[in-house]
Parts: sequence; structure tokens; C-alpha cells
Amino acid sequence: MRLIWFRNDLRCHSHTPLLRALAAGEPALALYVLCPLQWDRHEVAPLRRWYVLESLLELGKTLASRGVDLHVVDGGDFDGAVVAVTNFVREHGITDVFCNREYPLNELNRDRAVAYELEKDGVRIHGFDDGVLVPPRALNTGKGTPYTVFTAYKRRWDRWMEENGPRVPEVPCWPARRGRFAGRGRVEAALSELSLGQALRAQWQPGEDAAARQLSAFVKWHIEDYKRLRDRPAETATSELSTALSAGTLAPAEAWRAARMAMQDPVAREGAATWIGELAWRDFYRQILHRFPALAKGAPFRPETRFLRWNDNEAHFDAWCEGRTGYPLVDAAMRQLVSTGWMHNRLRMLAAMFLTKHLFIDWRKGERFFMRHLIDGDFAANNGGWQWSASTGTDAAPYFRVFSPVRQSRRFDPEGRFIARYVTELAELDNETIHEPWKQPLLTGDYPPPLVPHEGVKQRVETAFRAARDAWHRQAGEQGA
Ligand SMILES: Cc1cc2nc3c(=O)[nH]c(=O)nc-3n(C[C@H](O)[C@H](O)[C@H](O)COP(=O)(O)OP(=O)(O)OC[C@H]3O[C@@H](n4cnc5c(N)ncnc54)[C@H](O)[C@@H]3O)c2cc1C
Repeated sequence: MRLIWFRNDLRCHSHTPLLRALAAGEPALALYVLCPLQWDRHEVAPLRRWYVLESLLELGKTLASRGVDLHVVDGGDFDGAVVAVTNFVREHGITDVFCNREYPLNELNRDRAVAYELEKDGVRIHGFDDGVLVPPRALNTGKGTPYTVFTAYKRRWDRWMEENGPRVPEVPCWPARRGRFAGRGRVEAALSELSLGQALRAQWQPGEDAAARQLSAFVKWHIEDYKRLRDRPAETATSELSTALSAGTLAPAEAWRAARMAMQDPVAREGAATWIGELAWRDFYRQILHRFPALAKGAPFRPETRFLRWNDNEAHFDAWCEGRTGYPLVDAAMRQLVSTGWMHNRLRMLAAMFLTKHLFIDWRKGERFFMRHLIDGDFAANNGGWQWSASTGTDAAPYFRVFSPVRQSRRFDPEGRFIARYVTELAELDNETIHEPWKQPLLTGDYPPPLVPHEGVKQRVETAFRAARDAWHRQAGEQGA
């Protein structure tokens, strides 16, 4: 008997483990291990848990209709998952386990422990890389080291994709029987334990069918303008497929194939090529996390930045979390996050840079806050984005680059439409005042003045980074002495 172990790949299409497990026409079972304690430990947002569980319900139904039983067991945390998988394999006489690899440290340790246990019983494990377009160890620089600069990585990534990119997917050889969704009750029970407002859920559609529809709609209506409009948060210009990609209801291969098809239309070529570049960023941060595992333990990529002395101002942190910094676009961004579970990329960069540069608060606090709210919360992309913004990461924004919240606002939300949507107390202001409401305090009601002035931030950040570098050199000198 063969087993397909589903994790962050909650779909049937473009799923190599499923395809291979069913290829020999042998009977196969499917398994998903719930790990609510692991979710608690990683502070996974309730909205994301809901998305995963609902997608799992859809997957269980689809598999059953095609002759494969999906079992759902409760592992508690990843240690418990090792026991749960091992027991399941022994109880059901499994000879081969098929799954997609996962690259963060805890997931790798879990999988190594499972492999260690199962190999004692002679069970074979077959791992695949459908979660990325280019496997994280496939590309190395001429020196055999991992790429740490995106542009060089992307050049090599493009070549690899030309030579090895995903081909048209085969269709699994489904068994001629009716399957059973054995874990449905467990998933429904886990869903009933979530405390989550209906308004938040109503904005999202879980499952692979919805993800496929969303991909086609994006390619049909928006991809051609992607390059032009993707930095405008008031527009519907980006795919909003990050949730589907991170939970695996959409295969990156499908996303890439759809964009490549779009490139055949000269009008859409530029937009589609730019969008493919974002899929490469996704792979880039996954390979960085995989090849520098200290990142998974909270380490910054740049060692000197360990010596930065961050501010510990709780009142400032709370104001940022609640969208009350006095900078309208930053506040609109934070309110979008809390009220929808998602934030536009331009605003993630702005909000993260504001926290780490203007308020000089540790990026790890912001990273955790994002994970607590994001429906697309994904360790590699979130860590990469935060370290980019804080200038502690690989190929990050240089530390002397500090976004001006007002200039970003004028440039990317010139009419203030996005601000008006989320900072409703400013909705009546004109296009000018809405970016700098403190200039017209009589019109802005309860809206707060800026928490800190923009002037002087760049100098303060430069001083702090220089001090950190000096401290690092001193420590290196003392250790060498
Ligand atoms: C501080 C910060 C935190 C972030 N946290 C996350 C996170 O938890 N989960 C997440 O998926 N993305 C994260 N991102 C990356 C990016 O903001 C989102 O992927 C993007 O906003 C999702 O919107 P979209 O699906 O419309 O993207 P599109 O513009 O349509 O891009 C297509 C896909 O490419 C990938 N992608 C796009 N930009 C990036 C990027 N910079 N890094 C990695 N992958 C990218 C995503 O999978 C996205 O769905 C973060 C970025 C920053 C600056």
C-alpha cells in the first residue's frame, strides 16, 4: 500500500507525489496531520488556519470522489506528527510514502525524524519539489555557494527554467472505486474551535477550484497591466494568489505556465514577465531559508546587525499595530492587514520599513505581528521581506535607504483612494491634505499627529548601523586577540 502525505500542497492538480503514488495502479491512501500546537507556537493567524482547514475539506471530498481515502490524524506538534505518521504507516502496511519537500528548519527536522523511523521498517520515502519552481539546492554560484543576490540568482533561475521548467502535467491514474473522507469530522471539529469573524472569512475563498479561477481571472484581466499598476494599492492589479501559493492550493508550476502562455500575447508580455519575476523572488527566499538555517531561529542574515540596539517603545509598537502612527498610508496598510488578513506588497515594505527605521523597533516583532494576521503568512517570504526592509537581510535595502511615508503616499496613492478606504476619518480630505493631514488639524478629528518626524530618521539609522558595525568588529578583534 502507498501513502501520499499532504502538507502545504492541498490540491490534486500538478501534484507529483499523487501522480507517482497512483502510477502503478496500486491502492493508495492519503494522510494529513493536524498540528494545532505547532500553529500556536508559530503564531499562525486564525484566518490562515481557517483557509487551510477549509481547503482540506475540499481536498478530502475531491480525493474521495476519485477513489482515494484521505485520513486526518491529530499530531499536536511536529514531534507528535512523527509519531502519528509512523503509527499510521505501520497500522496500514504502507510500503512507500510520497510527499512534497518542505524547507524550513522545523519541517526538515520533522521529516528527517520520520525518515529515520520509517527506514528502520524498510519503508521507502519519495520526496518531490512541487512547492517551488527551482529546488533550493539546484542553483549555485561559480564558487559552489548559494546565490545571495537576487539579480544573479534570477539570471541563473531563468536559464534553469528554460532547460528544466515544468512541462504539461500528467493526469493521475485514479483508482476505479469510491473513496472515503475518513478525517472529515476532525477537520470540522478543528474549524469549530476557531474564533473568527464572518466578515473576515467572507473575503476569501479557500480550495484549489477557487485558486484556479483566481489565476485565470488574473491572467485574463490584470496581467497585462501588472508592471504598470502593481505598486498602486488602490487598484486591483496584483494576483492576490499568495495564500493559494503558500498553502499549495495552487501549484507554482501552474502559475508559471499560465504566465508563460500570457507572454505569447505581445500586449501582456511585459506584465507576465514581471509577474514571473515575483515567482522567482518566492523561490529565492525559500532557497535562502533552506541554505541558511540560522534564519529560522531568528538570526539576521547580516551578522553585524545582531549588534543593533533596537528601541523598546511599547506605545510606539502598539500605535503601529493599530494603524495610529499619524502617517495615513502606513496606517491604511496596517488597518488593511488587521481587517482583511492581507496587505499589498508595496505597503508591506512601507509598513515594515517604518517600524524598523522610523520607530527603530526590532524587525522580529513586526515579523511576528504579520504572521499573527496574514492569511498568506509564509515563513520564508515574511522573513525575507522583513529582513529586506530592515536592511538586515541578504540583498536587502541598504540601511541608508529610508522610505518617506509622505512621498510613498503621493507616488503610489496619489488621489488618496486607498487611504480613504481604510482611514475613513480622513476620507473627506482633498488629494493634497490626505497625505499630510497634520497640516490641517482642524479637519482631521481624532486622527493623531505623526508619532515621530520623518526628518532626522536617516541620520539616526546611519549612526545606529555604524555603531553596530563597530561593535561587531570590536568583538571579532577581541575574539581574534
Ligand atoms: C515585510 C514583508 C512581509 C511579507 N510577508 C509575506 C508572507 O508572509 N507571505 C507571502 O506569500 N509573501 C509575503 N511577502 C511578499 C509579498 O508582499 C506578497 O507575496 C505579495 O504581496 C502577495 O500579493 P500577490 O499574491 O498579489 O502578489 P503578486 O504581485 O501577484 O505576485 C505573485 C506571487 O509571487 C510571490 N511574491 C511576490 N512578491 C514576493 C516577494 N517580495 N517575496 C516572495 N514572494 C513574492 C507571491 O507568492 C505572490 O503571490 C512579504 C513582503 C514583505 C515586504
